[in-house]
Amino acid sequence: MTASSQMLAIRAGSLFDGERALGPGMVLMKGGPITGIDTSGAPPPADWLVHDFGAGVTVMPGLIDCHVHLSLDASGRAMENVAVADDDALLQCMVAAAATALHAGITTVRDLGDRRFLSLRLRDHLTRNGIPAPRILSAGPPLTTRGGHLAVMGGEAEGPDELRAAVDERATRGCEVVKVIASGGATTPGSRPHDDQYSPQDLRSVVDQAHERGLRTAAHVHAVTSIVEALEARFDSLEHVTFMTADGVASDHRLIERIAESGAFVSLTIGAVPGAGKPPPAVAQRLEQIRCNAARLSIAGANIVLGTDAGLSPGKPHDVLPYALEELVALGMPPLRALHAVTAVAADACGLRGLTGRLAPGARADLVAIKGDPLSQISDVHNVVAVYRDGHLIGGRRQPAGVQTAG
Ligand SMILES: [Zn+2]
Repeated sequence: MTASSQMLAIRAGSLFDGERALGPGMVLMKGGPITGIDTSGAPPPADWLVHDFGAGVTVMPGLIDCHVHLSLDASGRAMENVAVADDDALLQCMVAAAATALHAGITTVRDLGDRRFLSLRLRDHLTRNGIPAPRILSAGPPLTTRGGHLAVMGGEAEGPDELRAAVDERATRGCEVVKVIASGGATTPGSRPHDDQYSPQDLRSVVDQAHERGLRTAAHVHAVTSIVEALEARFDSLEHVTFMTADGVASDHRLIERIAESGAFVSLTIGAVPGAGKPPPAVAQRLEQIRCNAARLSIAGANIVLGTDAGLSPGKPHDVLPYALEELVALGMPPLRALHAVTAVAADACGLRGLTGRLAPGARADLVAIKGDPLSQISDVHNVVAVYRDGHLIGGRRQPAGVQTAG
């Protein structure tokens, strides 16, 4: 029997399918796809290989980080380094970033800004060399104005012709998503998060053109005005959503309700490794109010996912997502809903419904086994004992302890 047709039953004391807690059971897979979920208590099918994690382990869909930058090295000089590194050095840094994410149970990442389409080259490199990695969705360089936020990545485009050409290029090269820097950002000198970068007409036409080409759309929005304009332009996801104004953070209940009603995915940039550096000053001064608004968005029922901005700074290494989950729960979201947000909802946000993010027949077997019960104790998400990517055991940080194999 070849590895690709291996019939494998993964048993655990607790299953979470991306929507619900199923209790004890097993996930059945044949090679890459899941073929069934069994919670009947029946023994594994005869002749199947069995990985039995036992009573104290939860098996759930692999985690999805909807906003990372694999080309940023999570150092204090990440933005400077990405500007000057040569492509080969940057590619090696990205390979390491992908491995770091995978070993933390992150089986899908959406790269919302690389330098000159290197994440596409990374994907080819990983596939060609059989290197285990998360599934990578790519935006290429984000669309930005001349000298605007993240212009260092090479995606400057202004006016209808350049914007149309930029969308076309991303579709032709194989990106899945177009990212637009609709407001300024805190990490680019001279850029201010509370300023708009594009006109409402420009935003609308980029979204329409991207959708015509089958690409999803993500808007980087800090400014209140840019949040409103991105909503009206019907971006699929709103990134950051910090409600920044010139002198602080707006508290706008009506806008929060509008966001929730719109169904747009709200990608919250929370999560940092405790004690590992501070956010940029524009964010740090406003952090409590930004968190307050995130909690209000959650209460209002917005379609929340997590997009950590992994790679941006020392507090945001490429395995920061479990910390973001803890913060989401600290903001008041129940653990089950938080885990739903980083699995099933995130898959929907990325256009991957049916492919990953849920334990369901037909989905690829992207799974994580966690010691403990993150559905009641969210900090358990740090205790990864095994990761399966497309049916292949990656092994967590080492070969999982206590797994009984048979068959
Ligand atoms: Zn970002």
